[in-house]
Amino acid sequence: MTQIAYLNGRYVPRAQARVRAEDRGFLFGDGVYEVIPVHAGKLIAADRHFERLGRSLGELRIAWPMKRAALEVVTREVVARNGVQQGGVYIQVTRGVAPRDHKFPKDVAPGLFIAAKRTKPLSAALLRDGAPVITVPDQRWGRCDIKSLNLLPNVLAKQAAAEQGAHEAWLVDEDGNITEGSSTSAWIVTRDGVLATRPNGNEILPGVTRAIVVDMVRDLGLKFELRPFSLEEARQAREAFITSTNNYVLPITRIDGRPVGDGKPGPTAQRLRTAYLQATGRSA
Ligand code: PMP
Repeated sequence: MTQIAYLNGRYVPRAQARVRAEDRGFLFGDGVYEVIPVHAGKLIAADRHFERLGRSLGELRIAWPMKRAALEVVTREVVARNGVQQGGVYIQVTRGVAPRDHKFPKDVAPGLFIAAKRTKPLSAALLRDGAPVITVPDQRWGRCDIKSLNLLPNVLAKQAAAEQGAHEAWLVDEDGNITEGSSTSAWIVTRDGVLATRPNGNEILPGVTRAIVVDMVRDLGLKFELRPFSLEEARQAREAFITSTNNYVLPITRIDGRPVGDGKPGPTAQRLRTAYLQATGRSA
C-alpha cells in the first residue's frame, strides 16, 4: 500500500512529499513537531499533544498552519489513509519558505508535514529483561521545553547508546542530575520506595506519557516526588524506568552497564506499564 503523507495542503504519496530547499525547517531547524501514539487506529491523548504543539508554536511565535480543529481532522485522516492501527503520527510545522535570513520573514505561511507509521511492539526480551541506558552529558540548549526540530544533541546521544548496545541515553546536567532521556522521560524508585521524576521546566520536554503516568501514580496513592535526581541516586535506586509515546512505560535495568536494584524489571514500573496499557486501551 502506498503511504500517504499530508504536505502543505495536499495528501501525497509519501515518497513524493518534497519540501522547498528554502523551507526554514531545512535551513535553520526553525520549526516544531509532535508525535502522537496511535492505538487501535485511534489517537491517544490527542488533546494533550495538540496542547503541547500549540505551546511549542506559541513560544517560537509560529502560527498554527490551520485551525487546531482542522489540524486534528487532517491528522486523523492521515492515520486512516495509511491504515495504521498501532504506531504513531508525526506532525511537523516550520516557519515556512523564505530566502535565507535569520530574522523572521513577513507574511509567510507555516509549512506543515504529517506522516503516520506503524510500530512493532517492543521485543519480548526487552520487556522481560528491562532496558539498558548509558549516560552522556546534556549538551542541549536552554529551552528543551519546546519540542523543536533541533535534535542534534539528542541524535548524538541516541547514536552513542545504540553503539554501546543500550536502548536509551540519559542526559546528565552540570549538577550531576539526570534531566531526561534523548527521547524519553526519566524516573526512579528510590531505596525508600519513593517515585521521583524531574519537574517540568526549561531543561526538559513536558512528556505527555509522563503526565499521564503522574496522574496514575497519584490515583494509585504511590509515594511520589516531583524533583530532580542525580546520576548517583539513580545508581543506588531500587528501580528505574522511562516513559514516552513509543516506549509507554519501560523498566530500566542497567545504567552504564551496572545493574539497577536486583537487575530485573521492578514491580512499580511493571505495574505502571500495565496500568498505562489498560488506560490507553480504554481511551482507544
Ligand atoms: N523527552 C524528550 C526529549 C522527547 O523527545 C520525548 C518524546 N516526545 C519525551 C521526553 C517523552 O515525551 P512523550 O511522552 O510526550 O512522548
